[in-house]
Amino acid sequence: MTTDPDGPTGGPDDRLPDDWLPVRPELRGIAPYGAPQLDVPVQLNVNENPYPPSAACAAAVGEAAREAAARLNRYPDREFVALRAALTAYLLTDGGVGLTPAHVWAANGSNEVMLHLLQAFGGPGRTAVSFAPTYSMYPEYARDTHTRWVVGHREDDFGLDLEHAAAVVAEHRPSVVILPSPNNPTGTALPAAAIRSLATALEGTGLLVVDEAYAEFRRPGTESALALLPEHRNLVVTRTMSKAFAAAGARLGYLAADPAVTDALRVVRLPYHLSAVTQATALAALGFAEELLGNVDLLRHERDALVDWLRGRGLRVADSDANFVLFGTFDDRHAVWQGLLDRGVLIRETGPDGWLRVSVGTPAEMAAFRQALVEVLHRAPVAAGADQGEREGPR
Ligand SMILES: *Cc1c(COP(=O)(O)O)cnc(C)c1O
Repeated sequence: MTTDPDGPTGGPDDRLPDDWLPVRPELRGIAPYGAPQLDVPVQLNVNENPYPPSAACAAAVGEAAREAAARLNRYPDREFVALRAALTAYLLTDGGVGLTPAHVWAANGSNEVMLHLLQAFGGPGRTAVSFAPTYSMYPEYARDTHTRWVVGHREDDFGLDLEHAAAVVAEHRPSVVILPSPNNPTGTALPAAAIRSLATALEGTGLLVVDEAYAEFRRPGTESALALLPEHRNLVVTRTMSKAFAAAGARLGYLAADPAVTDALRVVRLPYHLSAVTQATALAALGFAEELLGNVDLLRHERDALVDWLRGRGLRVADSDANFVLFGTFDDRHAVWQGLLDRGVLIRETGPDGWLRVSVGTPAEMAAFRQALVEVLHRAPVAAGADQGEREGPR
């Protein structure tokens, strides 16, 4: 076992021993999941916002933590009323309609929000569905809540085939369907028609959870599923402060849904799950929403330029409404990933075979990525269907 539970994973010595540890059978031989946390100059692997908070924002968050610290002998507000009100106010500025704090729920990252959803709406004998390629954490929440996990597929352009989706729902009768929009790892946003159609198909039997972790990066004309909440009481829209809000370290995710849904989540959450420090710091950070979100336009611009540049090099690139880009395809994507890492650029080896995902960073980070990729593709014939210019053969 490594000492860092989130550290580099996947190695054989990370696996749980199965000869003496009375661990649940389905956890035997399993290594903890997580992207490698490597200390390299250019980190473009977990879709973080590359811009840290300003000194003023950091000072306000620090002051909020100090005030919370003065009352640490007391349990925090179990209903996190002030934070819920602030999250509601924010959602009303980004597509939310008629929301009140009773519609809003929060937890330690949207990962925990998703776990709450499966604790309340999944479980033994129940099924959760998504459509691949999809977020790699979902199957883990399903496993940990004893929920059956079924995965349909997306089309070649990573869009959703509504007939296939309806057929999967009809066959498996899921109590939860989870779809990221924009999708991770492809960047594909779901059209409103797809959300309407799935929510309607699930009416009375299941929830449709639209994971909008990257919603703020969507391109003009792409609608948030928040706008559809008044039409579908079985629709749940999750958001996070980890991406556009540049606060991944704060661990704050949230959702908007019918108050009956949030009431069910209050039943399964651990007591006082949001610490006083988390509530205070998230609330302080929300006060700087405009500033924290101020770099979203810059990142969208950088993303669109990256898509054009990659396509200009003859690579396949998925359209992206997020702050990352899926590109390929490579006969040996691991060699490309390793070649970039050797040059100090960490991206993510994820998605369908042959594809790689790169997060959008600062202009300087993207320049480093582009230069490293040119070197890697120029030196090794790893790109299938890419215009690589002169080949020097494998090194
Ligand atoms: C990054 C990400 C999240 C956010 O997770 P947090 O726990 O809020 O940091 C949620 N869903 C998807 C698909 C993501 O990629």
